[in-house]
Amino acid sequence: MRTGAEYLASLKDGRRVYVDGVAVDDVAHHPAFAPIARTIAELFDLAHGPAFAHDGVNRLFVPPRSREDLTAFRSAATVWAEHTHGWVGRSPDHVGAFAAAFAAHPEAFAERLAPNVVAFQRRVAEQSLYVSYAIVPPQVSRATPASAWEGDLIQVGVAEERADGIVVRGAQMLATGGAVADEILVSCIKPLTAEDTDFAISFAVPVGAAGLKLHCRRPYAPAATSRFDYPLTSRFDETDALLVFDDVFIPWERVFVYRDIAGLRRQFFETGAHVLGNWQAQIRFAVKLRFLAGLARKVAAVNGVDRFPGVVEKLGELASLTSLVESAVLAAEYAAQPDDQGMWRPDAQALYGVMGLQAELYPRVLAILRDLVGGGVLQVPSSVADMTSAETRPDIDRYVHSPGVPAEERVKLFKLVWDAIGSEFAGRHHQYEMFYAGAPFVAKGYAFRNYDFDTALAAVDSFLASYDTETP
Ligand SMILES: Cc1cc2nc3c(=O)[nH]c(=O)nc-3n(C[C@H](O)[C@H](O)[C@H](O)COP(=O)(O)OP(=O)(O)OC[C@H]3O[C@@H](n4cnc5c(N)ncnc54)[C@H](O)[C@@H]3O)c2cc1C
Repeated sequence: MRTGAEYLASLKDGRRVYVDGVAVDDVAHHPAFAPIARTIAELFDLAHGPAFAHDGVNRLFVPPRSREDLTAFRSAATVWAEHTHGWVGRSPDHVGAFAAAFAAHPEAFAERLAPNVVAFQRRVAEQSLYVSYAIVPPQVSRATPASAWEGDLIQVGVAEERADGIVVRGAQMLATGGAVADEILVSCIKPLTAEDTDFAISFAVPVGAAGLKLHCRRPYAPAATSRFDYPLTSRFDETDALLVFDDVFIPWERVFVYRDIAGLRRQFFETGAHVLGNWQAQIRFAVKLRFLAGLARKVAAVNGVDRFPGVVEKLGELASLTSLVESAVLAAEYAAQPDDQGMWRPDAQALYGVMGLQAELYPRVLAILRDLVGGGVLQVPSSVADMTSAETRPDIDRYVHSPGVPAEERVKLFKLVWDAIGSEFAGRHHQYEMFYAGAPFVAKGYAFRNYDFDTALAAVDSFLASYDTETP
């Protein structure tokens, strides 16, 4: 397994990452990307610990073959998530889990491309790669798929087929972490029509591939003036990027699905990749909710309101919401079954059930936290400089403290809360938790399709059959 330092050194590969109109020369040393690259490097160093060991590779990149493997997967994913307290959504275990499930199901791919998914997973595991993904068409119009859009190949698609591979052109959204990843899995999870076969592709591309450009949204890390003022932004801003492919050559060995609309669905759903990858996402989400519940509990105690019945009720609601996600993670593991290829799949009903609520659950958690902190998050000095200035510090010490909590501790806590609920980083996280697995109607669609309605309907039918007009 490679070290964090090896990962960081590998990032200078000629990648075209754009910020403010110019290409960044070296992401590992640029203020927008260096902090998250360092955090990912820390994860790779952590992976040398016993929780991750599996035949000499990181178990998070290997298909779980037993119930014990699944439990060990959760433990390792939890170690990584706890390192960032869940604030890095697309850590390398997310797409790593997709790659693992692909490789466990070569039969879900066209025969000539199936060896490529096996080689992909082996490369990810043996080289401990950080793979990001972009699997959603750019938001041009959702009224029709891309074949009906004006202009050729706006969504990334096949521009040319060659003997040794394909040339792809167009764009795809939205590679979280793409700027500091090793490779990006590019595909399309949105339903396509028969006219869209040019877009029905899946491949892995090195971020430094010739012709690939990453247009990043505004990075927040450079504006994070200090760790004290922005404790989350300063370490965990993953960045998100629109990918643009200017005729990028993809050798056949890197192609997994080719002009095959049904193959795209099989890739995500028949392989179990969507379930395993999103179970990892819920493991991470549970860790983050625990952190937010802890923040709320601490703020309430510092402000001396934690014994008021109304506040206890709000903290109780937070506890309920957090427990719901924690329990769903465990329920998905408890009800897991091996599939026909021997991969242990977390239970889809438990997983999608809680995922379907995420777009309401996360904003509700933020609303409770906002309610509990009141103006305390604004009653903080402008920056850490006010804490070290002899002119301003005495007022802060005198007026910005709580019983038993000196000013520095209080300010530190409330600045952390602001970075979790109010900063630009926090706003992006709000959007992330609502959309990372698809728009809310998509997530609820998964819940609908995976819930055992047959049993629910049978219960209603049997009850209805138990009486009629003659029943006393
Ligand atoms: C912070 C962040 C990070 C992300 N990271 C990644 C990533 O790493 N990789 C990746 O591939 N993607 C990523 N995404 C993209 C994510 O997958 C998409 O946002 C998601 O699939 C929804 O697509 P959309 O944003 O185009 O929204 P849309 O699908 O355009 O939805 C916008 C609104 O229109 C409604 N709507 C659209 N179509 C319908 C319909 N048919 N019926 C009813 N309502 C409809 C939706 O309900 C929603 O309210 C990220 C998104 C965010 C916000």
